[in-house]
Amino acid sequence: MQFRNLKKQYEELKPKIDQALGEVLRESNYISGRQVEELEKELAAYVGVKHCVTCANGTDALTLALMVWGIKEGDAVFVPDFTFFSSAETAAYAGAVPVFTDILEDTFNMDPDSLERAIEAVLKEGKLVPKVIVTVDLFGLPADYEKIRRIAKRYGLYILEDAAQGFGGVYHGKRAGSFGDIATTSFFPAKPLGCYGDGGAVFTDSDEWAEMLRSLRVHGKGSDKYDNVRIGLNSRLDTLQAAVLQVKLEAFQDYELTYTDQRAGKYTEGLKDCVKVPVIPEGFASGWAQYSILLKDKKEREQVQTYLKEHDVPSMIYYRRGMHQQTAFRDCCLYGETFPVTADVCERVLSLPLSPYLTEEEQQKVIRLVREIVTGNGEQPA
Ligand SMILES: *Cc1c(COP(=O)(O)O)cnc(C)c1O
Repeated sequence: MQFRNLKKQYEELKPKIDQALGEVLRESNYISGRQVEELEKELAAYVGVKHCVTCANGTDALTLALMVWGIKEGDAVFVPDFTFFSSAETAAYAGAVPVFTDILEDTFNMDPDSLERAIEAVLKEGKLVPKVIVTVDLFGLPADYEKIRRIAKRYGLYILEDAAQGFGGVYHGKRAGSFGDIATTSFFPAKPLGCYGDGGAVFTDSDEWAEMLRSLRVHGKGSDKYDNVRIGLNSRLDTLQAAVLQVKLEAFQDYELTYTDQRAGKYTEGLKDCVKVPVIPEGFASGWAQYSILLKDKKEREQVQTYLKEHDVPSMIYYRRGMHQQTAFRDCCLYGETFPVTADVCERVLSLPLSPYLTEEEQQKVIRLVREIVTGNGEQPA
């Protein structure tokens, strides 16, 4: 069984993907071809923002956003402790200090109370200037933007929405990628919308920031490529990836997200009485980058993972440790904040195979195996 069935996806989309790739090869505009601009319009329309600026990957997307705001040494950037490394790495790379917050067990997303305590602690210490809140839409579910926006307003902070996993997620009728002052996503192959290599994008409603982003991703270009007005990056999405994404975005909108959501619903039905299943609060929908359950403890997780593996079912642990426990952040100051929820979740979380192409049979097998270990009986209750 595949964890995320990209082979099957290609089989389904082969005629369209092959045609799209063939067009790029025939046109031979490998960098900044027309497909890139078309894709940016399609992505902006889907997400519901004015501008989409594609770039080389989701990590660069975060870096570009921080560059637009001039984030530098002496700035504090607030990041959930439970996320992929990039969310905090990019702040540190910019010279700022990532300040970590705990998460909520139900949603795996930033705990607004912990965020507020962390901001207060930084202000009280008086050494760093709070600038940005990086909200991560973890596993596909948008963060609690009602509360976090209120906090951002009160302290005058930007929200940088890391929607690398959130693409397709919804909150109060708006899509992930539209909640941050700037938002970013990743097209890494295993993300909800993935390409055939690395890719990323930045979203914003601001004309001024979008123009800066377009400059920053091509060596800080001015009126033309050889007029450089600022220090930038070389961070473009190449035309082949854009062509792949155009085909995949259509499938994502037409049926993939619906299918994934249906499969997630089946997991929840089949497992909710014996493990902790993901909670999707009222008014939210997940883009289902992952379907992540919580087992009783580390031992039970180990048993489940081993048993699944023995039966050819892959599962993944996202994530084994909090950001503050990463070696690279060993000297980070914690501002009195502790991370009990992250610590607990790191020991109990397990992500199950999920994709729009997971078959009914495969899924029933996963559910049966998990139940067999956790309850001693693979049958689902009537
Ligand atoms: C994948 C991911 C990124 C980085 O994306 P890349 O395209 O791999 O650079 C950033 N943040 C989160 C939360 C991610 O899951």
